[in-house]
Amino acid sequence: MKRDDSIDRQGVIVAHYGVAVEVAFAADGQRCAVRVKRSSGHVIGDEVVVKGEVLRRLPRKTELRRRDATGNIHLLAANLDLLGIVVAPLPISPPNFLDRAIVAARSADLVPFLVINKVDLDSSALVDSLRATYGASIAIFPLSAARKIGLDPLRAHFSSGHRGAFVGTTGVGKSSLLNALCPAIALRVGELNDYNDKGCHTTTVSTLHLLPDGGELVDTPGFQDFGMVAISAPELAAYFPGFEENGVNACRFRNCRHRSEPACAVIARVEQGTILEERYRTYLQLLDEVEASVVDERQRDWKN
Ligand code: GDP
Ligand code: ZN
Repeated sequence: MKRDDSIDRQGVIVAHYGVAVEVAFAADGQRCAVRVKRSSGHVIGDEVVVKGEVLRRLPRKTELRRRDATGNIHLLAANLDLLGIVVAPLPISPPNFLDRAIVAARSADLVPFLVINKVDLDSSALVDSLRATYGASIAIFPLSAARKIGLDPLRAHFSSGHRGAFVGTTGVGKSSLLNALCPAIALRVGELNDYNDKGCHTTTVSTLHLLPDGGELVDTPGFQDFGMVAISAPELAAYFPGFEENGVNACRFRNCRHRSEPACAVIARVEQGTILEERYRTYLQLLDEVEASVVDERQRDWKN
């Protein structure tokens, strides 16, 4: 069928090859490749309007970013609404990884959820302790990607049309989970390789996958350790898991950091015992770290 280049067609970027993107069109689900500049700034999940060879990006609802080892920020994907934070009994995640990732997700307007993978290993103590600490804050899915145990509740979590990505330390099982949820992925990689006459690996391609039961998953190779993502002190104070408010007991000061401010609702709840001392200590430790890293950045900027 000949394409009509005179009409606007709206779609979403489902794959990114550097100099071209693949767009899936909303009206008919058809896909086509559109050439883009290497520096176009378009990412997976971007809503676009294509007219002939011209691609125009629509405003984004959310942006998923990471910071690399040298401190540069990279935009990875757009218009996600969920972020799955994956942990496992082995390898254990760095200290405070989960708190940081939850705060980073909420700051980016994504709803975080927790996957505890490898429940086929000795994991009941981990599951119990994570449920106790985070159960009231986020949805928790204990499962085994390799053994395909406990996947249905996670499929259901996505099925009403959510778009998400997984983050977590290398080795916790993010790729295994992606493959378990989207069996078509392995097949797709094979298809792409057919086109690749130089025999290069195609693993650097970012892709957006439709889940068989509904919802979408973004696969961004290289996006492994979300611990690098910077969070600010106000974000930490607003989004620390366990400090959620129902609006009744809010702190007197809107920008309260819950350290020594008067009429702080968090401190009051620590005193009442509804927030555990241990969680509050973790918060203060993270707050110190985050404030110190801001000072570092200022000094770095000043030197430059
Ligand atoms: P990633 O680095 O987070 O993408 O992790 P991978 O998916 O590559 O998995 C890392 C290792 O964990 C591999 O050896 C997997 O076979 C193993 N693995 C993944 N899921 C499970 C699971 O449910 N149980 C067990 N025991 N091992 C798993
Ligand atoms: Zn406060």
